Amino acid sequence: MKKSLLALALGSVLGLSACQPATQSNSQESESQVTEVKSESQDQQFSAFSAQFIEDLWKQYPEASSWAGYGKYDDIITIPNDATRKSNREFVDTQLTKLRAFDVNTLTNANKIDYRLIENSLLQSIWEDEKFKSYQWDPSQYNVAYGFANILNSRFKSQDEKYQLVLNRLQYVPDYYAAARANINTPTLEFTQLAISQNQGAFSVLTDDLLEQFSQTSLTEEQKSLFVTRFNAAKEAINGYISFLTDLEKELAANGNARSFRIGEALYEEKFAFDIQSGYTAKQMYEKALEDKARVTSEMVKITDKLWSTYFPEEKRPENDGAAIAKLIKHLSVKHVKRDEFVDEIKKQIPSLEKFVIEKDLISLDPEKPLVVRETPEYMRGFAGASISAPGPYDKKENTYYNVTPLDGMSDEQAESYLREYNHWILQILNIHEAIPGHYTQLVYSNESPSLIKSIFGNGAMIEGWAVYTERMMLEEGYGDFEPEMWLMYYKWNLRVICNTLLDYGIQVNGISKEEGLDLLMNGAFQEQAEAEGKWRRATLSQVQLTSYYSGYREIYDFREAQKQQLGDKFDLKAFHEKFLSFGSAPVKYVKELMQ
Ligand code: ZN
Ligand code: ZN
Repeated sequence: MKKSLLALALGSVLGLSACQPATQSNSQESESQVTEVKSESQDQQFSAFSAQFIEDLWKQYPEASSWAGYGKYDDIITIPNDATRKSNREFVDTQLTKLRAFDVNTLTNANKIDYRLIENSLLQSIWEDEKFKSYQWDPSQYNVAYGFANILNSRFKSQDEKYQLVLNRLQYVPDYYAAARANINTPTLEFTQLAISQNQGAFSVLTDDLLEQFSQTSLTEEQKSLFVTRFNAAKEAINGYISFLTDLEKELAANGNARSFRIGEALYEEKFAFDIQSGYTAKQMYEKALEDKARVTSEMVKITDKLWSTYFPEEKRPENDGAAIAKLIKHLSVKHVKRDEFVDEIKKQIPSLEKFVIEKDLISLDPEKPLVVRETPEYMRGFAGASISAPGPYDKKENTYYNVTPLDGMSDEQAESYLREYNHWILQILNIHEAIPGHYTQLVYSNESPSLIKSIFGNGAMIEGWAVYTERMMLEEGYGDFEPEMWLMYYKWNLRVICNTLLDYGIQVNGISKEEGLDLLMNGAFQEQAEAEGKWRRATLSQVQLTSYYSGYREIYDFREAQKQQLGDKFDLKAFHEKFLSFGSAPVKYVKELMQ
C-alpha cells in the first residue's frame, strides 16, 4: 500500500507514532457535560491546530511532504546535520506544548484519536533522537535516490518542471553526504552493506541518460551547464559515500567491532510501544504468538490425520507430524490456476467474496465504490503479485485499485513455484486479505471519517491486523464450506504471520542464531529455504515491523471475543465490524477505549 510507504518515509525522518500507556481516564465523563460549550470550541481549536500542524510538519520535513504528494517542497533536500536535528527538536517541543494545551477528554472521538496519533509521532521523534539514534548506526537511511525517483516518476508534473526540481535538488547532494558520513558511528554490518548496495542503486535514477535528456530541454544554456556541474558533483558525493562505507565495512569485519543488529529487550519494548501502539507489551505479544503456534500446529495435525488416507491411500503416514503436514501441503499445492488465467481468476473471485459477505451479513459494502481490479502498471512492478493502491492524502480523486501482476516475466519454473504458493486455496485467502472484506473494505470505511492526520499517521498494525483478522473471520463464517483443505492452507498462511513475530522477537530480544531462525521457519512454518533466508535477512534489517501483522490481528480478535463475552446475545458481528472500522485507521487500543 502507498500508505505504508508514506509511513516508512515519515518513520525515517520524524519517527513513527506511539504512546505512553494511555493516560486517558474515564472519570471525566460527568465533567464533559458541564464543559460542553467549552469543548465545542476546543474541538474547533483542535481542528485548526491539527491543520496548521500538518502545514508546519511538511515545512520542517520536506522529504516526507514529497512522499505525501504535498508538492510544495519537492526541490529541497534536508542536510542531516546537528543544526537540522536541533531545529527538528525545537519543532517537536513546540508542537508538543501546543498539543498538550488541549484537554484530550473534552474532544470528539475522532479528534481524540488524532490527538493520540500526533502525540505519539512527536514522542517517538524525541525517543529516536535521544535514545534509539539509528541515524548513527543505520547508514542506509542516507540515500538521495528516492526523492529524485519520486519526482521523475510523477504523473502530475511536466518534463520541464521535473528538470527544474532535479536541478535544484542536486545542489544539496554533496553537503548531504558529508553530513551523513559525520553522523555514522559504529554501524551494524548489515545496514552498512545494505547502504552500499542501495546507494549504488542511486545510479539507476541519476543516469547518464538523464544528463543527455537535460541537454535537450528548453532550459537556458546557463541552467544546462549548471546541471552538468551539479550532476557530476552529486555523482562524486555518492561514490565517495560508497567508498567510505566500503572501507568501513572492511574495517568492521576485520576488527569484529560492528554494532550488533539485535537491539535488545529494553529498546525493543520501547520501539514496539511507538510503532504498534498496542495495548499489550511486546513480551505479552510474543507469548501469545507462542501459544498460537502450538494451537495452529495441533489443528494442522488433526486435519492431516483426517485427510491422509484420501490423498495417500497406499502410503503410511510419516511418524513425524511436521513431515506429514509438509507432504500433504505439497501434494495439495499442485491444484492451482493456469499461469495465463491468474489475473482473470482474481477478477472472477471478487464478486463471489462480495456475495458471501452480503449473504452472511458480515459488513455493509458500498455499492457506489466497486473495486477496480487491474494489471499492475509497469512502473510499480517488481514486488508482490497483488496489492491495493489507495490514493494518497493529497490525491483523493484517484481510484483505488487492486493491482495484480501477471506472470509474464517469469520462467516456467518460477511461475510453477509461484502458482503452487498461491494455489487454489491460498489465492482465495489472498483476495480476502487484499480486497474483500480486507484492505479494500477497511479503506472505504476509513475514507468515511476523513482526517489528514489519520491518513498520514494511520496505524499500520491496525490496517494489516484487520486484513489478517478477516481471513479467519471469513472461514469461521463458513467461507469455503469448512473444507479441511481450505483450513489447512489457511493455517499455513497464518503460521507465517505468527512466526514473523516469533522470529523478530527471537532475534532482537532472545538472541537466537540464524540456524534456529531458519529451523523455526522451515520446520515450524513449512517455508522453503529461499523464503526463510530472505526473511532472516529482513529481520536483521528491521525491528518490530515484522510483528505488526500479528499484533494487530491478535488484538482485534481478542477484542471481538471480549465483546462477545460482554454483550452475550446482544453481540452482533456486523455491528461490531462497522463500528470498529468507523474510527479510521486508528490503533486498536484507542478503538477499544472508544467502543467500550
Ligand atoms: Zn502446476
Ligand atoms: Zn496486507
